[in-house]
Amino acid sequence: EAILSIEHVSKTYRNGGFLGRGARVTHAVKDVSLTLPKGGTLGIVGESGSGKSTLARCIVRLIDPETGVIRLGDTDLLKLTRAEMREETRHIQMVFQDPFGSLNPRRKVGELVAQGPIVHGTPPAEALTRAKDLFKLVGLDPASIDRYPHEFSGGQRQRIGLARALALEPEVLVADEAVSALDVSVQAQVLRLLADLRARLGLSIVFITHDLRVAAQVCDLVAVMKNGEVVEAGPIGEVFGNP
Ligand code: ADP
Ligand code: ADP
Repeated sequence: EAILSIEHVSKTYRNGGFLGRGARVTHAVKDVSLTLPKGGTLGIVGESGSGKSTLARCIVRLIDPETGVIRLGDTDLLKLTRAEMREETRHIQMVFQDPFGSLNPRRKVGELVAQGPIVHGTPPAEALTRAKDLFKLVGLDPASIDRYPHEFSGGQRQRIGLARALALEPEVLVADEAVSALDVSVQAQVLRLLADLRARLGLSIVFITHDLRVAAQVCDLVAVMKNGEVVEAGPIGEVFGNP
């Protein structure tokens, strides 16, 4: 019943230095083991610098950890070649904090949402039709697919980022500070949307945030990270305490 399992994952960064002298080593993620059950939302919380983003980027293999196993269903992600991983990303998609940064400003938003399916072999016309459906799903006007990213508000761009991630019908969504840049009222809307998508699409979610309040709203499981380590993990009521 685990859709994603992370076992003993560690990642260090080596910065600067010359011939081994003066190099600084950051143990960004230390021996992290976590399980996401199918249909669950696992929150990863912790202060800035605690290793959350590094772990998220390891999960989708934007970076490779030195050690550990990351399984998506029966697939050992760290064993896949780059090409195999590109194929596998249809099952696991990441949403970033600032979708403006990851939305190409020169492309129409409909093209941006259709891009993934087209790369994975969906005919362009069909992919654009699907993009319109996804716009409806995330609460955007389907007629706006011909607009450009800068014509949308922050909350709308976050929805576009979500639509783009959902276009490949992934089983797992990794959201890295996906609502942190938004106003509280817009945050609440996007969080409700995520809860709704999870229920309707049977999505499993890894939800990364520095904001415990936000985690408490959407997660059923939570892991607290500190200095690269998971210092506490379990059902949200147990970790945060039942009021
Ligand atoms: P976060 O918001 O997750 O704490 P930052 O804003 O600190 O991340 O960093 C933004 C980007 O800079 C990240 O993509 C990360 O890869 C990179 N980064 C963070 N810390 C360092 C560092 N010490 N050296 C080099 N790059 C870093
Ligand atoms: P968080 O997402 O919790 O803010 P990060 O994973 O971004 O934490 O960072 C964990 C640690 O790794 C921090 O000390 C950060 O400075 C460092 N770090 C992050 N990205 C890089 C990078 N690309 N190069 C070097 N150090 C990095």
